[in-house]
Amino acid sequence: MDPSKQETNQNKPSKTSAKKDTQEAQFVVYNTMTQQKEVFKPKIPGKVCMYVCGVTAYDFSHLGHARAAVSFDVLYRYLQHLGYDVTYVRNFTDVDDKIIRRANETGEDPISLSGRFCKEYNVDMSDLQCLSPTHEPRVSGHIEQIKEMITQIINKDFGYVVDGDVFFAVDKFPNYGKLSGQKLENNRAGERVAVDSRKRNPSDFALWKASKPGEPYWDSPWGPGRPGWHIECSAMSAHYLSFKFDIHGGGLDLIFPHHENEIAQSGAACEESDVSYWMHNGHVTNNNEKMSKSLGNFFTIRQITERYHPLAVRYFLINAHYRSPLNYSVVQLEGASEAIFYIYQTLQDCQDSLSQLQEEIPNDGKPARTTPDAKECISKLRNEFQTKMSDDLSTSLILTGAFLEALKLVNNLLTMLKKKQQKQQRLLVIQSLVEVKKEATKVLDVLGLQPPCSYNEVRQAWLCCMMLLIHVFCKS
Ligand SMILES: [Zn+2]
Repeated sequence: MDPSKQETNQNKPSKTSAKKDTQEAQFVVYNTMTQQKEVFKPKIPGKVCMYVCGVTAYDFSHLGHARAAVSFDVLYRYLQHLGYDVTYVRNFTDVDDKIIRRANETGEDPISLSGRFCKEYNVDMSDLQCLSPTHEPRVSGHIEQIKEMITQIINKDFGYVVDGDVFFAVDKFPNYGKLSGQKLENNRAGERVAVDSRKRNPSDFALWKASKPGEPYWDSPWGPGRPGWHIECSAMSAHYLSFKFDIHGGGLDLIFPHHENEIAQSGAACEESDVSYWMHNGHVTNNNEKMSKSLGNFFTIRQITERYHPLAVRYFLINAHYRSPLNYSVVQLEGASEAIFYIYQTLQDCQDSLSQLQEEIPNDGKPARTTPDAKECISKLRNEFQTKMSDDLSTSLILTGAFLEALKLVNNLLTMLKKKQQKQQRLLVIQSLVEVKKEATKVLDVLGLQPPCSYNEVRQAWLCCMMLLIHVFCKS
């Protein structure tokens, strides 16, 4: 780690300062550390640094991974919408027991196997319209930073070496358990696997693992080996964001032990280390059981996007609050498909009409005049969106209420255009359409639901999906 680099990053003036109008709205987030909602205040005004734990790349990612990615993508987009200059880091674990096990089964090199699944993950992310983070570091590219942090931990007497392995001594860290509320005596890690008798406390965890035959390894002061799982996120977050940053995110299941161990490692390496807000998304369940690879009850993102348009899947994911559990439901996915395509159909109709009326739309730079209904509708939509989003990203039902009223108004205005009316009135209707559409599009954009192509192209793709489904259904 290069301290001068951290200093430079910290003091660098932000590219854009937070916009005045939106900064005034207090953004409130739930902080797992304090177990309450808090007003969001970045450490450096106008700038946000956030780190989110990514995936262990050894297979296709499942719907639970999609939920974490989409939840934090909405946060990333909303912070940018508020005018913040956001540095977003999401890692890939590409050195891990599961990857090595899978690679040994297939005879592939572990790093190349995981490189393949990192690529597949990014295909899914692009389909789900998740923006690329600023940095996507991988463990294999940050071994030096990891070794440096382990050295700091050992030098400060929080780590100890046994036969080429390095362990973190949890007893040395008095705040261990403060995020999860876990007490050391309640730690049940030893019940699942035989306790390594070389550990001073059964809860001590590996920072460095001595190499075993058939495993990738790197030289280190403690002998050849590879990093333990938790150290990568402490080392990579410190490398890209320094020891003090604003948001650390991930799935609920990472609170313990992963994030607890991260806090211990970072705190041991640097006493001043500090994350302001710990944010965690809820599980995706299937028949109300957590969806996970180990339980074998999961659907990969790819399996689902073969059946439903990725933007319908995204709609389904954000239609629940990010912290609540979300049950996989065909009925809800179908409902999401219908809802999103009604939205696109309405906006396409609006766009088609407006493109034929280009000559009638004044281009004089004057503020657009709208009907009283449109004015009220826009103001209600803006307020409702801001109220819900600023309350810990309450995206559930955000595309109902005022948003649906706006679409209804678009349809009414389109009907009015078909009738004969005075020139002034017609102009008012056209300008209302332009403004209501603009506001609705803004909402879709912040939620990541504004398609990169035309609404019609998405609808065509959706119809193809439906035809394929009917075909499969008829054959079976
Ligand atoms: Zn992590």
